[in-house]
Amino acid sequence: MAKEVACSQCGFRVRADSDDELVEDFQQHNKAFHNMDLSREQILAKAKTVQVATA
Ligand SMILES: [Zn+2]
Repeated sequence: MAKEVACSQCGFRVRADSDDELVEDFQQHNKAFHNMDLSREQILAKAKTVQVATA
């Protein structure tokens, strides 16, 4: 089950299979593009579970 989180400032989306990966990628995005530090809790609170169709 994948999770996805969308950046509220620019619409950038991160999708990952694990919470750790999702948090890390999204933290990097916010640091690089918005100079913001987000906590794991903040990111996971915004994350949505997505169905990924895999054949
Ligand atoms: Zn952004």
